[in-house]
Amino acid sequence: MRTLLSALAATTLLAGAAQATAIYPLDRATILVSSPFDFKIELDAVHPEEEIAVTVNGKPYAETFGTKADYVAEEKGKDDAVLGSALILRDLALAEPGSYTVEVRAGDETRTVTWEVYATPAAPKARNIIFFVGDGLSVAHRTAARIMSKGMTEGKADGRLAMDDLDHMAFIGTSSTHSVATDSANTMSAYMTGHKSRVNALGVYADRTPATQDDPKVETIAEALRRTTGKSIGVVSTAEIEDATPAAVVAHTRKRGEKADIVGMFHDIRPEVMLGGGSAYFLKSDIPGSKRKDDSDYVAMFREAGYTLATNAAELDAARGSDAERLLGLFHTGNMDTKLDRSFLHQGTVGKFPNQPGLVEMTEAALDQLSKNEEGFFLMVEGASIDKMSHPMDWDRAVIDTIEFDQAIASARAFAETHPDTLIVVTGDHTHGVSVIGTIDDDKPGDEMREKVGTYDAAGFPNYTDADGDGYPDRIDVSRRLAIFSSNFPDHYETWRPKMDGPFEPSVQNEKGEYVANEAYKDIPGAVLRVGNLPKSADTAVHAVDDVVLQATGPGAEEFKGYMEQSDVYRVLVDAFALGAPRN
Ligand SMILES: [Zn+2]
Repeated sequence: MRTLLSALAATTLLAGAAQATAIYPLDRATILVSSPFDFKIELDAVHPEEEIAVTVNGKPYAETFGTKADYVAEEKGKDDAVLGSALILRDLALAEPGSYTVEVRAGDETRTVTWEVYATPAAPKARNIIFFVGDGLSVAHRTAARIMSKGMTEGKADGRLAMDDLDHMAFIGTSSTHSVATDSANTMSAYMTGHKSRVNALGVYADRTPATQDDPKVETIAEALRRTTGKSIGVVSTAEIEDATPAAVVAHTRKRGEKADIVGMFHDIRPEVMLGGGSAYFLKSDIPGSKRKDDSDYVAMFREAGYTLATNAAELDAARGSDAERLLGLFHTGNMDTKLDRSFLHQGTVGKFPNQPGLVEMTEAALDQLSKNEEGFFLMVEGASIDKMSHPMDWDRAVIDTIEFDQAIASARAFAETHPDTLIVVTGDHTHGVSVIGTIDDDKPGDEMREKVGTYDAAGFPNYTDADGDGYPDRIDVSRRLAIFSSNFPDHYETWRPKMDGPFEPSVQNEKGEYVANEAYKDIPGAVLRVGNLPKSADTAVHAVDDVVLQATGPGAEEFKGYMEQSDVYRVLVDAFALGAPRN
């Protein structure tokens, strides 16, 4: 019966009334009480203002929203094409929790959305939150990191990762508003705002106009903390600090690539601690290495705002022991090198940036600094190269960075032992299509590397050692190593060997602009051409749609369970901090 009715309703809609293009926030949005957001209606046709009727829970919308929206008669798209009329109301905030059904009618266009506006408990559960994001962190990364770091005997792990013992767990859906697939911008933005969005978007719903910074905004966690608390904010990443994942803590743009502008957005919020790479977007355009196109000198501007600057591990160490008010660490013009290159192989750009701190040192420096604030803090820590090395299928670099990420989690757990009012969350922003399937054993007979892949019983166990007990294998190029494969790939040469000379570059562009196998690996003994299963526009492996595993411990962690949408995670964070507590 119900099916029949909704089928009838759908037919009526099709016959009698066109769906208006969009209402933002989208249907089923969940919104923190009193949190500012932009409301927008996009209509498919041009309508005079008096023809557009908008109601909220059946009453004219201005009664509920307190004010009228701006009317745009003709929104323009590419080449000035008219897209239709629009209504925009910026910085709307709803102070009453409850269900809000917004209905628009304009001529024959109609659309309805329902939002849930939620409050939080009156009392905070946690003083501090440490939010760990392993970019691209998938189950295979954890499994490989555990085996490589701790070893395995008779099928049982010889030790546990720090992330193995976080007591609450959920599966997280990472899909974006316009696609099952996803990137680090919209995924991290969902965690940091409570709203899902479109690929490449940060802190906004992606609207139809070409301008990238006029899209309907939603509040970031950094803004919510500034609006409601005196807590400190920290952002730590091994990527450029203005890269999508760290940027999502503060940014509003449809286009994650607007990195110079994102530095300005960091300056608006001024997190008490910012540590990572990406100095190229802080330097004014005439400084060598700058990627800015203007004269803004953000290094000077952050200094003027009270920041102590560190550009290498020694300076970070010195700043850590000082009474610095705010801390800005920029350790690379671009993304920082991987742990494998920084500490062991000295490849990549380590020759140019020899003294980069690691994720553990950066996390500990951030905790030292942020814990000076009696009111507590929110710290985001990203292990970025788990993703950045999974794209080119450089599994050793991705897994060694997973071990480093785990050691940063161990530091946070040690901090939480003396600060039990700390919620620790560990998750990925999205997954990769990666699996551990067995081992590769150089001592198997023959020259064909493919025949050295051990599966099932023939896999046995890898022979990594950790004689110095630092948690990292002493060598990655052991004779029996983990066999880790990607489910998706461009054309490339499979070598079945660790990439000792620097990060793997599987494909290169040909004269037609297609990505083809990089011949640099062709003559490695046993290398075999593997024909890609992705479009030839793909230069590397891509993100997977598979769920992410989230784990958490500390006050509030019990709210993580079962399957959750990425945007639901935000609600657990703001609940723990009581950011939507009734105010008087
Ligand atoms: Zn990625």
